[in-house]
Amino acid sequence: MNNSRQELKNAKRIVIKIGTSSLLHENGLLNLRTIDQLAFVLSTLMNEGKEIVLVSSGAIGAGLQKLNLTKRPTSIPEQQAIAAIGQIVLMNTYSSRFSSYGQDIAQVLLTRDVVEYPTSRLNVVNAMEELLQRGIIPIINENDTVSVDELEHETKFGDNDKLSAIVSILVEADLLIMLSDIDGFYSANPKLDDSAVLISEVNEITQSIENLAGEAGSRFGTGGMHSKLECAKQLFEHNQAMVLTRGKHPKTIFDILKGQAVGTLFIQAEGGNENE
Ligand code: ADP
Repeated sequence: MNNSRQELKNAKRIVIKIGTSSLLHENGLLNLRTIDQLAFVLSTLMNEGKEIVLVSSGAIGAGLQKLNLTKRPTSIPEQQAIAAIGQIVLMNTYSSRFSSYGQDIAQVLLTRDVVEYPTSRLNVVNAMEELLQRGIIPIINENDTVSVDELEHETKFGDNDKLSAIVSILVEADLLIMLSDIDGFYSANPKLDDSAVLISEVNEITQSIENLAGEAGSRFGTGGMHSKLECAKQLFEHNQAMVLTRGKHPKTIFDILKGQAVGTLFIQAEGGNENE
């Protein structure tokens, strides 16, 4: 078995990012089976001594469900109002599921300006450290209700893939597990090309790797594969690793942490970043 996979057994501080496509059914309703399994897996890992940070999308999706809307409105204030409504629905659901496993959680809402400005960035890091030391799982999302990009004041991360990479770097995680609607990085977009094959490990984000990536695949997807490769690139600069896999069955996180060949592992080749 591959050595880099075996190293994942030692990952202690782990950021998990889950996308809307894993949290909602196609019909827009919350996927309670996935959320419950996620709560079970993450609570178990905490009990085993791991430190977990969850980056969760899904606020707008949950808000649409709450208001019985089928389509995302186009105006920014409407979207922000729906995110504000949905964020509570989502956190209530997490809170009840995690508490059934005796696990406390906390909500952290971030904007890009906050993590870019040194003083507030340090405050975020300190708050997160405090939560982890107390055995609490921070559940992080972009503060959708206030984040809007203006010319000289950029508050948006772009998407939650990017947010999760930034969070991994902030908390100096050992591993980022990105739970998507696809079971890994393929030689082409498998939804468009039947001959696409899963690539189990990527050690460098070269132009030829970037050429294999396509856009987001579902109506809930935001980042697409380019955004995930961009995250891997950033993580490599900090000697961090990332696994991309499907999120519908979060129990696969156990297999990843046993060193099994699940999804795609993005890990820098040994000696790849000697300047760090
Ligand atoms: P999520 O938000 O759930 O992470 P995204 O839609 O942002 O999902 O990204 C995953 C999608 O990227 C896949 O469903 C697939 O359609 C698309 N995609 C494009 N290129 C590739 C590729 N080379 N390998 C795998 N998926 C790809």
